Amino acid sequence: MAGLLFGTGGIPHNVRPASSINGIKRIAELGLGCLEIEFVQGVKMGEKSAYLVAETATKEGVKLSAHAPYFINLNAREPEKIKASQDRILQTTHIASLCGAESIVFHAAFYLGDPPEKVYETVKQHLGETLSQLKRENIRLWLRPEVMGKLSAFGTLAEILNLCTELEGLAPCTDFAHWHARTGRFNSYQEFAAMLLQIKERLGRAALDNMHIHMSGIAYSKKGEVKHLNLKESDFRYVELLQALKDYEAKGLVICESPNLEEDALLLQATYDTLLKAD
Ligand SMILES: [Zn+2]
Repeated sequence: MAGLLFGTGGIPHNVRPASSINGIKRIAELGLGCLEIEFVQGVKMGEKSAYLVAETATKEGVKLSAHAPYFINLNAREPEKIKASQDRILQTTHIASLCGAESIVFHAAFYLGDPPEKVYETVKQHLGETLSQLKRENIRLWLRPEVMGKLSAFGTLAEILNLCTELEGLAPCTDFAHWHARTGRFNSYQEFAAMLLQIKERLGRAALDNMHIHMSGIAYSKKGEVKHLNLKESDFRYVELLQALKDYEAKGLVICESPNLEEDALLLQATYDTLLKAD
């Protein structure tokens, strides 16, 4: 497969009616390669629609992923909230699988003041249960916990990579903007290359061949992420990141989450193409 495919997190702007099917068609028209379907406010798509989405995506040659609802916390205090979180992951996975997606992305948990090591064990246990359930149902999709941008959210790069080494069926959603916002660093070629090397060392070369990346400009404070920005309004050194991804021969999906969505997705794709041609 081609190196990296570029697309948007959610339906591109000015698609009317704003349906996933029209979004896929628009992605193809724009010459982009993928779309992340946002179930962030809940999984409202039915099975019939999911089959139509799959058909359209195949016809248009657009790869799909799905983002699970935001209302997930595998470290919630109340058992019923844990159960509801697991159900949201399962629901997303079921519908995403019918859509023909290969991955779902989710925000795993909040620390709620607990020690990170304790949260890690709790998240691991509940994710393990969710993965076992999917295995029993014979559903094979990559579940991708996301590297998170706020200090209050579980999901440092190390936490995500550790989970992925321990649980089968898990792979990272590497959100480079989040990691930059969270650390105030990781915004240079060398640092991006170090991250890719770390992924390779922890998860093997296969992980670089099967990446799922979130990218955008980002505003941040001492507490980490404040909000997403368009790339050119931010300090994010996306050219250096693309250069590192190219040099490490990373493959997979790059989902652009800038407010201007397709505009920055096209900018990233064009920049990456220029880098490829420079060889
Ligand atoms: Zn996310």
